[in-house]
Amino acid sequence: MRRNDCRLCKSKDLQMFLQLGPQPLAGKFLKPEQLNETEEFYALDVFFCKNCKLVQVLDIVPKETLFSEYFYAPHTLLSKHFTSYANEIVKEFNLNEKSLVVEIGSNIGMMLKPFKELGVPAVGVEPAQNIAAMANELGLETVNDFFNEKVAKEIVRQKGKADLIIANNVFAHIDNLDEILLGVKALLKPNGVFVFENHYLLDTLEKVQYDDVYHEHLCYYSLLPIIPFFQKYGMTVFDAKKINTHGGSIRVYCSNSAKLILPSIKQLLDAEKKAGLDILETFVAFGKKVQNNKIEVYQLLHSLKSQGKSIIGYGAPARGNTLLNYCKIDSGLLDYIIDDSPLRQGKYTPGTHIPIVSVDQFRSQQPDYAFLLAWGGYTESILQKEQKFIEKGGKFIIPLPETKIVP
Ligand SMILES: [Zn+2]
Repeated sequence: MRRNDCRLCKSKDLQMFLQLGPQPLAGKFLKPEQLNETEEFYALDVFFCKNCKLVQVLDIVPKETLFSEYFYAPHTLLSKHFTSYANEIVKEFNLNEKSLVVEIGSNIGMMLKPFKELGVPAVGVEPAQNIAAMANELGLETVNDFFNEKVAKEIVRQKGKADLIIANNVFAHIDNLDEILLGVKALLKPNGVFVFENHYLLDTLEKVQYDDVYHEHLCYYSLLPIIPFFQKYGMTVFDAKKINTHGGSIRVYCSNSAKLILPSIKQLLDAEKKAGLDILETFVAFGKKVQNNKIEVYQLLHSLKSQGKSIIGYGAPARGNTLLNYCKIDSGLLDYIIDDSPLRQGKYTPGTHIPIVSVDQFRSQQPDYAFLLAWGGYTESILQKEQKFIEKGGKFIIPLPETKIVP
């Protein structure tokens, strides 16, 4: 299904600037017996709303297909992030044992846990049945459902209204944001705060992170379109800060009523306008850059392969599949991909059918090149970790923001 209006402002004045499809679902890794089955491919076109400036994908894969069973297990680095985030927010808004925190899209409860440890009651809402069950087993109270007004009212009935609602890296996943906001309004106390974190469009552009575009991510946020959207619901975006997770994110604070707007908002809005996030030309130029990068990456891998070099993929995050499919990199170019997650080992990448193996194979075989797929934000730590590979003559190929070989 493709919608024909902007997800936030409903304008039909939309302009496409990047075509990454057809793409399979990025998280749909294949079991060996699924290799001969027909895979579903979907368009993946990226649009700019000329009215409110929201960047978005209009093709919608049903949320039940995407999220009813979900395998994303957050990185251990993120656990530290959520702990300090929870500590910060408990202090900032004076939360205590009488408060109520609700997290939308709470996954396995990585942020519910620190709240619980700080003595602040917290409830999660998580649509993936398998993951919600894991959280509940860990004693982290989780409602297994998609968050909406009905679920919100049920929480109010059982526990009263919330002082704080959080949504981390889920705001991009939702097609019907009005449904979420109606739920937030029903659940939040009049003086309550809604805080969300999301990948930041400014970073996507600056670091050419087009591999962040996949069907799960429907929206690519800057503050420009967010502020009027919350205004529509009588909410005030009063603070925001840039943070380092996922290669560059933003944390946005919204109050349920009028509130003093902090200087951070003007600073970020100025930076967004300076970067041209309010004009179509910026995105057209970005689209061209992405196309050129595709050609560079493909030619480099082909030329190395024709010289008889062995190349493997390093890391199999879902986002890597956008790049692999868009650049047409398959098992003819990469022998295999290594990944730490046992959930992915033994499987194949969707669309490109590259086998995923454990890191042991990489250590024992010492290929000539490792093509970095898990590059977003982790490049430095990976290069450090793989000093031995490099000392033995191994090289990394880093695809973005500029294609390069190190060392
Ligand atoms: Zn719009």
